[in-house]
Amino acid sequence: MAQNFVLNVSDVNKSFGGLQALTNINLQIEEGKTHAVIGPNGAGKSTLLNTVIGRLAPDTGSVLFDGVNLTGKTAHQINQLGVARVFQTPEIFLDLTVLQNIEIAALAKRDGAFSFKPFRSMFSETKIQQEAVDMLDDMGLHHLRDHPAANLSRGDKRRLEIAMCLIQHPRLLLLDEPTAGMARHDTNRTIDLLQRIKARGMTKVIIEHDMHVVFSLADWISVLAQGAIIAEGTPEDIKGNPKVQEAYLGGTEV
Ligand code: ADP
Ligand code: MG
Repeated sequence: MAQNFVLNVSDVNKSFGGLQALTNINLQIEEGKTHAVIGPNGAGKSTLLNTVIGRLAPDTGSVLFDGVNLTGKTAHQINQLGVARVFQTPEIFLDLTVLQNIEIAALAKRDGAFSFKPFRSMFSETKIQQEAVDMLDDMGLHHLRDHPAANLSRGDKRRLEIAMCLIQHPRLLLLDEPTAGMARHDTNRTIDLLQRIKARGMTKVIIEHDMHVVFSLADWISVLAQGAIIAEGTPEDIKGNPKVQEAYLGGTEV
């Protein structure tokens, strides 16, 4: 039976000068699943994500999203196809309010670009505004709606960026270390949020360092070390894999 893969990464290689950052990467991501990519610092995780979202071109290989080859498409074209991403450093508009950030993301998807039309016309977009307000409620950011994004805690900035992705209704959401630098309380709130997204059936690829987050969310895990996938499987498989413990977990029990 043919599997329903949303994302198909085949034989991707990427080098920076003499450094082979990715070697023969193959990944198949099933619809509705949460697929985690873990690995030590410098393993190539962000490079892999950047090749999927069109920030970097792979040297060889292909990335198919829903059967469409993403190689050679711009980051913007890839976003328009239904792929959204949360970067390691939140990309939000610090001078705008929380609500305005979400509205801009919604307009960007609708109008095909980040749009800086006068805010007056933006506020006439009643439907978009209503959806943005609902999103804030859903994300537990409602009390911050009129605050400049610059004033938010690191965890709230991350959640705002996730909300900016969700308002675009992507089919595939890619998250690069969404809980990096967060306090445990914020991490747990973000896990709750990501679990709620999962219940809605969105497909996710999550790059994550924190094993608590990975084992709370992932259906399937690929382990990257020195640019190559050294193991993959269910969280149970990965917990018990001695190769993974040696390469990534320093031989300690997880
Ligand atoms: P990770 O996200 O797993 O920590 P990265 O993908 O950021 O790892 O980096 C993988 C390797 O590629 C590292 O050795 C890093 O120094 C190198 N690298 C990443 N981006 C670039 C770049 N733009 N130019 C040169 N080297 C890079
Ligand atoms: Mg990284």
